[in-house]
Amino acid sequence: MKITIPDLPQTIELLLDIRSSFDGHTKTIKEWLAEQRNQTKNNLALLNQQSEENDIKILSIFIRDLMVRGILGEAGERFYQAFCQIIHQKSDLTDENYQKVLMLSRYRWGSTKGAAVISAVVNYFGDTLAWNWSGYFNQAEANKDNNFIDDALLKIKNIGFKVRDLALSNFNPNYAAFDLHVTRVVARIGLLAYGWDITEDKTIEFGTNPSDPDNCLFLHRLFLHLAALCNNQFTPVDLDRIFWHLGRSKCKAKTKCETCPINKNCLTGIKRAR
Ligand code: SF4
Repeated sequence: MKITIPDLPQTIELLLDIRSSFDGHTKTIKEWLAEQRNQTKNNLALLNQQSEENDIKILSIFIRDLMVRGILGEAGERFYQAFCQIIHQKSDLTDENYQKVLMLSRYRWGSTKGAAVISAVVNYFGDTLAWNWSGYFNQAEANKDNNFIDDALLKIKNIGFKVRDLALSNFNPNYAAFDLHVTRVVARIGLLAYGWDITEDKTIEFGTNPSDPDNCLFLHRLFLHLAALCNNQFTPVDLDRIFWHLGRSKCKAKTKCETCPINKNCLTGIKRAR
């Protein structure tokens, strides 16, 4: 059987007008992307003026996603609200307050364990980096090809690529945290086949499970490669969002190939139409 890997820019273009619902709102994928880009722009604007207030704002955004997998229902927003309610300035960064935040946000692995993670993160950014957020984000950008594998945060217990990449995605669109719904969509369309190009690097292991650190490295490199195939008009975060919304609207557990605009590009859609 001969297969043709879908042309990526053409496929993406066809997806942008799909309407997708999330959090009580329905918008086109193009509009969701614009909102996401705007949010990243606002987050980056916090770096332009160093102040105690901005340090705490950046910390609250960043740490929300580092902790998200430990919160029941993975409700990062609940942690964020609790953090903002209790931590207003650097003198509020105490173990006692971390425990209050974690209890309010129903941290599933116990507030003592969670407080140890927050404390290690705060010590790293506050004491080791002297709140030099730009320095940290510049390091992340410089090391994007290897997924910033030497990031000191990855040595903290309970912080792995997935949550670290999610936290970084708020400030750097080259980092995205892929979930199984996204990798399933990418596999169905046939875009995983572009991964063969990057496995020439023998340290890269082909795989689609975002919870596996080796597969995380593969997915990170794959999405950088897909972004390059789009002439970087779409970043890895954009592509992650596009496939995530496609997964919510058309490419669910039971696919809606008949009404999917890429059913003539997607390998699964073509197969199912026969
Ligand atoms: S054509 Fe079908 S399998 Fe392919 S992306 Fe669309 S819904 Fe998913």
